Amino acid sequence: KFGGTSVGSPSRMKEVSQLITEDKQQKIVVLSAMSGTTNTLVEIADYLKKGNKEAANNVINKLRTKYMEHVKELYSNQEWLAKTSDFLEDEFMYLHSFSGTDFTETTEKTILAQGEMMSTNMVTNYLKEIGVNVKLIPALDYMKTDKNSEPDMKYIEENLKTILNENPDYDLYITQGFICRDYEGKVDNLQRGGSDYTASLIGAVLGADEIQIWTDIDGMHNNDPRIVDNTQPVRQLHFDEAAELAY
Ligand code: ASP
Ligand code: MG
Repeated sequence: KFGGTSVGSPSRMKEVSQLITEDKQQKIVVLSAMSGTTNTLVEIADYLKKGNKEAANNVINKLRTKYMEHVKELYSNQEWLAKTSDFLEDEFMYLHSFSGTDFTETTEKTILAQGEMMSTNMVTNYLKEIGVNVKLIPALDYMKTDKNSEPDMKYIEENLKTILNENPDYDLYITQGFICRDYEGKVDNLQRGGSDYTASLIGAVLGADEIQIWTDIDGMHNNDPRIVDNTQPVRQLHFDEAAELAY
């Protein structure tokens, strides 16, 4: 799994693409939204919730400008540049379309989901441009929570395995972190920062040998580096110790 910082710019996306294609082992790669995007989507949803359509549309347009610059930097092939630009234009049209509808909780969740939709499309298309045999598997087709908002492990396992069995011949599978459907099938998410959780759930249902969480820090530290200076990464941790540190 690669977090927002890891896919936070076109050059970072290219580095991630290098890293995940270094060996030929089949793998599933979970991506977050580009850093800052989910916060911006929260801002858009907040404006819409308050009925401030103009402010929402201004923020959407700013985000659009940023993404259009990113794609120009990411692709060197006209075909992939055009395909990805079209996809992103549709995404921004979709975001704009919510100002013409009633605001519901699902509206908010759907808006928040678009960051991962965009980052995964961009990276998948970049990998295709450089000739990688890659498949994008939509998280909304298998990631689901139950009535208690807990992961529906049986559903996730069945559906993810079906998708993989139907698409066996790829070297790489890219999927969205964070986003899922709720028990009624409505778009939902696994809470902020939930991409790590997505990766863990996938690893668990598939009985993966290993889950790697690539992020902007070199491991779990002995204290919160945002608050304490000179913290150190801890090489090995028990679950309880990790939970205590997180707490
Ligand atoms: N993009 C989501 C967030 O910012 C999920 C994640 O990054 O793990 O919370
Ligand atoms: Mg994150």
